[in-house]
Formats: sequence, structure tokens, C-alpha cells
Amino acid sequence: MDNSVAEKKDVAPDKPVVRKSPLRIFAIALALLFLGELGIMRILAFFPSLPPPAAAFLDGVLLACLALPLWFFLSYRPMREKTEECNRERQEIARQNRLLHTVLDAIPFPFCVIDAKDYRVKIINKAAGTNDTGDLTCHVLSHKSAMPCSGGEHPCPMLEVKKTGKPVILEHLHYNQRGAQRVVEVHGYPIFDETGNVVQMIESSIDITQRKLAEDGLRRSEAGLQDFLDHANDLIQILDLKGRFLYVNRAWQLALGYSEAEIGSLTIHDILSQDSRESSMELFSPSSRSSQVVGHELVFVAKNGKAIIVEGNITTQMEEGAPVAVRGTFRDITKRKQLEEQFLEQKNITEKMIKFSAVPIFVLDKNHLVTNWNKACEKMTGIRAQKIVGTSDHWRPFYPSKRACLADLVLDGAYDSFPRFYEAFDTSTFLHDGVHSEGWFDNVGGKKRYLLFDAVPIYNRAKELVAVIETLQDISERKKLEDALARLATTDALTGLCNRHRFNALLEQEVARARRYHTPLSLIMFDLDYFKNINDTYGHAVGDQVLQAVANVIRENVRATDWVGRWGGEEFMVLCPEATEPDAAFTAEKLRRLVESHIFETVKTITISCGVTRFKAYDSVDTFVRRADDGLYRAKDKGRNIVEIV
Ligand code: GH3
Ligand code: MG
Ligand code: MG
Repeated sequence: MDNSVAEKKDVAPDKPVVRKSPLRIFAIALALLFLGELGIMRILAFFPSLPPPAAAFLDGVLLACLALPLWFFLSYRPMREKTEECNRERQEIARQNRLLHTVLDAIPFPFCVIDAKDYRVKIINKAAGTNDTGDLTCHVLSHKSAMPCSGGEHPCPMLEVKKTGKPVILEHLHYNQRGAQRVVEVHGYPIFDETGNVVQMIESSIDITQRKLAEDGLRRSEAGLQDFLDHANDLIQILDLKGRFLYVNRAWQLALGYSEAEIGSLTIHDILSQDSRESSMELFSPSSRSSQVVGHELVFVAKNGKAIIVEGNITTQMEEGAPVAVRGTFRDITKRKQLEEQFLEQKNITEKMIKFSAVPIFVLDKNHLVTNWNKACEKMTGIRAQKIVGTSDHWRPFYPSKRACLADLVLDGAYDSFPRFYEAFDTSTFLHDGVHSEGWFDNVGGKKRYLLFDAVPIYNRAKELVAVIETLQDISERKKLEDALARLATTDALTGLCNRHRFNALLEQEVARARRYHTPLSLIMFDLDYFKNINDTYGHAVGDQVLQAVANVIRENVRATDWVGRWGGEEFMVLCPEATEPDAAFTAEKLRRLVESHIFETVKTITISCGVTRFKAYDSVDTFVRRADDGLYRAKDKGRNIVEIV
């Protein structure tokens, strides 16, 4: 035990105490008086001459000599015993005191006993921070000040204890040993004397600075949280277990249009649409378990009757294992929903437009899988959508073996590969970003078809290619007509050879080529001899037959690269690219002989006369043709059935 706990008045254990009762003193005094009287009379009997005062003095001396040893003898033992007992008591008290002080020192918070008169500290423990009570008052101890801390926000708790005589618990400001201000919770307890006055006060204090800081922090964060909730864009609500609103944030109030007062009398039932009431009321009446529903869709009805579609999370708030409230955070998705609906409607329309379009259409996604295969496409190819959607078999109706279609090439961005797959391709004439091609397909849906096809990439908002739409147009009939027209425009109806118009174009083309590449080019011009006679003799129809037969003989006996044309009447031309003059002369002679030796129906034999010439660097088409014509003229002139080279 150290001496850290001090007491103002300690007990001295070695100082004996004799208690003197008044009765005892009175008895002793009477005995002494009696003995004194007796003694004086005896002395006067022995020494009658002595004056009485001297006898009384002598008697007193004798009595004292007799009484003191007697008194000492009689009273020594009890005194000793009493002293010893007293000492034991004192030691016990001191022991108790030490025990008490040990206990007080063991208390981890400051503890002291204060005199109610002058606020002096009587007893103090170790945690209070000093051993020496000295002149210490509670003000000096706790405030480093001699003045009582009576005013302001924190009046001295001991004043209160003294005034009321009741225990108090008050928050107070103290300074610790290092001089730092601390928030303490002071527990004051009065000690009364026999008359009921407060004589001492017990003060103990607990440092709650950290707790206060934490509380302040919490309060601040709660205020921050409140501010956050109030300014959140989401609709936030807290319901009690009966569905009444404990809290709604500003966004909620604005969206639903109810005032604070009105919210007080609302329940969740009042703001849910009929459908939402039927489907979701149980979410707001939690059972004993905690629950959380995420991304739940509901319809609130605002005060003005407007429906607000919301999506949110509903959470049961639990305390000690029991539900206490239901929190909900919702996002107004009305606009999004409307847009979604519009989008779906639009999508539906688009899907239908594709599906029922008269133009065959198929769509590939970015993985080359067919997503749409419309009715017209079904009709043209004979393949049902359900067989092909979801596959990559879109090539099947068009090609005998697997290969890329136009849409695949666009999807892969393989624009360089187009020439490998398509003879004719171009940017689409009517679709932005599209690619166009066309051509004959031997068997599409059981028919030879001429198809025009356009593939157009489709990008999403992020400009990523997500699909390609390919449209097909079967223009077989038109193409056939066009081809027939083209044939008519370029072919001689009687013989099937190139007509003069077409032959002129060929002449232009081949002359340009020969001029450019310095390649040989020759021309044979021939005319049937005495043809007028055939007409005259056998009639015009037989004349026509002869013209056709001659045309066939010529056509079948020239090179594939040679061009044969009917120049007019019974005049024909053979244009021979890459042929020198001797080559052409040889050909002309061959043709002359073939015609000469051919047996024609009705007329049996006829002959032809030929003019042959080669293209010369300075020639125009006209001079080139005219020279051939000159050759023919000379052949006629020379007697016919001959070849004349010019
Ligand atoms: P030459 O040996 O000098 O060429 O004598 P020719 O009789 O063949 O020549 P001419 O120019 O006098 O007669 C050509 C005849 O060819 C006149 C015309 O009636 C006939 N002719 C022209 N075009 C046709 C045709 O398309 N069909 C028939 N049947 N006869 C035609
Ligand atoms: Mg003729
Ligand atoms: Mg003629």
C-alpha cells in the first residue's frame, strides 16, 4: 500500500486516552475530603499546637503521598488495557482506511471526497492525478482555477449536489493532468451529517470526450446523410410496419405532390396503383424475416392522379432480429418506360415492315446468323424462315456450295474480296453505305433468276456494326426483256448477225484498240453476186432464205474472236481483230470457197465477191471501211466470185 490516498486528520496510534467520568471524580473528591478531614483531626491530636491550616497542608501532603501510589496502582492496569484496545481500534481503522484507499485507487476514473464548506478535497484517488490533497479544492483539481465553475453552460456539479442534497449526474468540462480540456460525466453524491446537512460530497467523473466526439461525428454524418437523402434524385421512403410514412425525401415529395401534413396521414396503400397494390403490397408488410427486393417495378399514383412508374429496392430494416421499418429507394422510370414502349412499337413496326415487305429481305447479325427472313424471301427461295433463322445457311438458296454472300462480305468489311465473289458490284444506288451487285442465279426457288441485291450495314449508337440487311430483287423478266431489246437493237432480225449499227460500234471499238495497242486488224466485206436475179427468179422469200444460209456459213467458219455483221441488203462484213492482211485474205478466200461449194435450197449455188483490207495507222473507221468497199467493188469489177485485197 502506498500513501497516495491522503487523509486530512490521521489518528496517532501511540497516544493513550483516559476517559474521566464526572461521577468518578466526584466520588474520589468526596473520599479525599473525608480522608482529609480525618487526617487533619489525627494530626491535631498528635500536634495540638499546630495551627489548623498547617495541619491541613500537612494532611494534604500525607494524603497525596498515600493517594498517588494508590491511584496509580488502581488505575494503571485498566488504563493500559484501554490504551491497547484503543490502539487496536486505531490500527483497525487505519487498516480499513488503507483498504478503502486501495479500493479507491483501483477505480480507473477520478474519485474524490469534497468538503461541502469550502470545496476542499478530503480524499482523492490515484486516477484523479495527484497524491497531495494539500490546499486542493475541486476547482483547482478539475479546472486549474481557484474559482468555482458555477456559470455558463456547465455549472459545477458539486454546487448542485450541495444545493439539492441529491445525487446528480451532469456533463461537465474538466482539464486533465496535461491541461487538455475533456468532456466528463460527473457523478456527485452527498454525505450528510446527523442534522441532515450536506457536509461532504463524493465526486467521480468519467471521461466521455471520445464518446462525445464520436456522437458529434455521428450527428454530423447523420446530418450529412439527411442532406444527401434530401437531395438525392431517387425517391426515398421509410415506412413503419403499418405502411405509414416515417420519412420521405424531397424528390419523393416533388414527384408525388403531397405536402408534409398530407404525408403524415398517408399509407403506402394510398400511393400504389391498383395493379401494384395487388402485386406488391406484401413487400411493404414484412414478416418476421428480413428481406430485400431489388429492381422491383411499381406504379405510384401522384396526388394529381398521374401514374409514376418506378423501379427500386425495398428492404426490411431489422433491429434485434425483428422488423422495425421498410425502406424503399425508387427511380422514376416513367420516361424510360415510355421510350421503351415507343421503341418496342417502332421495333414491332419495323419487324412487320421487313416481314411483310414485297421485297425479299434477310438480316444477318454480327455473328453471321440470320435474324430475319421475310415472307417475300420465303416465297422467292422456297425456304421457310423458321428453317433458316438462327443459322448461317442463307447461302443455300443461291449457291450450290457454301460461300460468302454480299451481306457476309459487308459484315466482315471485306470490300477487297468483292471482285473474287462478284463480277459486278458497286456502291448501292439507293441505300447509304450499301453495296450493290446483280447477276444470274441458276436456281433460286426452282427458277433461273436475275437478282439485284443490296447489302447495307447497320450500326448501333456506339457506331459498332451490329447487323447487315440484304434486299433482293428478282428482275429476271425485266432482264430478259432488256436483253431481247438489246438484242433487237444490235442484231439483224433476218440473219441474227450484228446489225449495221452494232457493227459500226464494234468497228469503233476495235479500231480504237488496234490504234492503241498497235495490234493488227483486218476487214472483209463481201456481197452476193447477182442476188437480184434470185429475188426475181424465186421470189423474195427464197432470197431471204439464201441470206440466212449464207450468214450461217459465215458465222460457223470464222474465229470466235471475229465479228460478223450484215452491212445492208446482201452485203456482209467480217471484222478480224489480231488478223494481218494475209490472215484476212485467207479467211475471205476460205469463205468464198465455202459459199461457192455450198448447196443452197432452191437456188443450189451462189457466189460472193470479197474486198479485204488491213487497218493502217492513219485510218479512220470510214477510210478503213471505204478501202474494203473499194476491194469489193474491184472484185465485182474483175468478174465476181473473187477476193480482192486493197
Ligand atoms: P451484183 O452482182 O452486182 O451485186 O448484182 P446484184 O443483183 O446482186 O446487185 P443489186 O444491187 O443490183 O441487187 C441487190 C438486190 O438485193 C436488190 C434487192 O432487191 C435485193 N435485196 C436487198 N435486200 C434484200 C433482202 O433483205 N431480201 C431479199 N430477198 N432481197 C434483198
Ligand atoms: Mg450483189
Ligand atoms: Mg449489193
